Amino acid sequence: MTETHMVVSKHTFLTARKCRTMGWHVRHNTQFQDATLVEIVRREQGQVVHEYARSQYKNGVFVDDTNIAKALKLTAELMVDPSCEVIFEACFRHGRCVARADILIRKNDGWIVEEVKSSKSLKLSLKEDIAYTVMVIKGLGVEIESAKLRLVNECYRVGVEIEPLLKPIDVTNEVFEIADDFEKDRNSIENDILSEFCPDAEWKYVCSACDYFSQDCIGRGVASPIFQIPRIGRKKFDKLIELGVTEIKLVPKDFKLSERQLGVVEVVKSGEMHVRSGMKEALEEWCDPIHYLDFETVSTCIPVYSGLTPYTQIPTQYSMHVRGCKGSLDHMEYLAEGSSDCRREFIETLLEDVGFEGSIVVYSHFENTTLTNLQKWFSDLSDEIECVKDRLVDMEKLIRGFVYHPGFYGRTSIKVVLPVLVPGMDYSKLEISNGDDALAMFYRLAMGEVHPDSVESTRLALMEYCKLDTLAMVRIHDVLIELANQNSKKI
Ligand code: SF4
Repeated sequence: MTETHMVVSKHTFLTARKCRTMGWHVRHNTQFQDATLVEIVRREQGQVVHEYARSQYKNGVFVDDTNIAKALKLTAELMVDPSCEVIFEACFRHGRCVARADILIRKNDGWIVEEVKSSKSLKLSLKEDIAYTVMVIKGLGVEIESAKLRLVNECYRVGVEIEPLLKPIDVTNEVFEIADDFEKDRNSIENDILSEFCPDAEWKYVCSACDYFSQDCIGRGVASPIFQIPRIGRKKFDKLIELGVTEIKLVPKDFKLSERQLGVVEVVKSGEMHVRSGMKEALEEWCDPIHYLDFETVSTCIPVYSGLTPYTQIPTQYSMHVRGCKGSLDHMEYLAEGSSDCRREFIETLLEDVGFEGSIVVYSHFENTTLTNLQKWFSDLSDEIECVKDRLVDMEKLIRGFVYHPGFYGRTSIKVVLPVLVPGMDYSKLEISNGDDALAMFYRLAMGEVHPDSVESTRLALMEYCKLDTLAMVRIHDVLIELANQNSKKI
């Protein structure tokens, strides 16, 4: 048995705080899924942020050994050496918990602990993250002077040296309190996580977002868990659990739910689609020629173009199908070349393509938000953009209000709705099949990281993906018209 079998990592510990069973699965489940394209991009950006943070300390010593025993030994040696002022990735073990501190700075008789995060806002999860490190270091009797998070500075602009990329936030008091709470649970968490036996599972609110729910835990074999009730809050969830209800089909008739929640519960119980009256009238408000529009954007911690702030949503691509009064279907598209800021070109091309007449069908609020951002960037085009926004109609909102289908499982995203309403049409055959992959691939193009031989095929894959999004809206619209005319249909 190697040393890593006997220790608990930060990720495992913090997961076990949410659910001991989940913590145990994280520790023992060795089936790793490959990182997605966007996860790889985020990881790379995280590394850049960490390197930047380290570059701010000229005299830091890096404990880069991945072997825990060796890293612990080197850290201990550096800490007793008064000439060592700053340590990167210092390694500590308290009980069976192991922690690495991003940056440790000697101050008076103690140390400042700093954690570096690629986040713009201070969240509880970040405080808990550094609290774990503080718990481990304090547990060894090391004096901690203060605890700081280094977060991404929202005023930073790429290529403009006015504001630093990271800003420090002192979280000492809150983090010390959290660390003390962690310490009270530490021993029992270690025991549970390192046990040979998985702790008993019980239904709790976090199960809804748990990767183990349907395969390895209590959701196995549950056809319609109560999480599929849209926007089920913790209060209603707890009440249902108190009643012993974990499946939608067992929700009592008199249980208080919103109209939409009730609609979802009813179709799951009956197994039949329900179309609410009024959809025909709502659809008739859409004017010809009908445009179906979809945007793609790229957003990264360190933006791809200079002058922009972290996580700016840069519109890079659109697809638009236009259906004429006589049923013709035209397609227009735009995909930025990538090497330079494309926002102006994007909006100017769109304004030309979209014309002045007809409704513009979008799926979600995203296009509206992006157009509002474009208005802020290009005030001279604000009125024209406002006219485009006035023509937007949201297909998802319409579906959410009128169409209830057991196959939607309480959701209305286009990826869920399309194969149900238009059988045989989905994204599975595409090389790029989701927005995150599209973001990652455009990022690679913009950074010049796609091999020249593959640039053309990558651009084609991006265009195919975006095109299917708007073609999907065309086909879903056809089905909605059919359903509105029938008003209700059994499945
Ligand atoms: S499904 Fe629920 S009980 Fe099971 S591991 Fe996940 S959070 Fe824990």
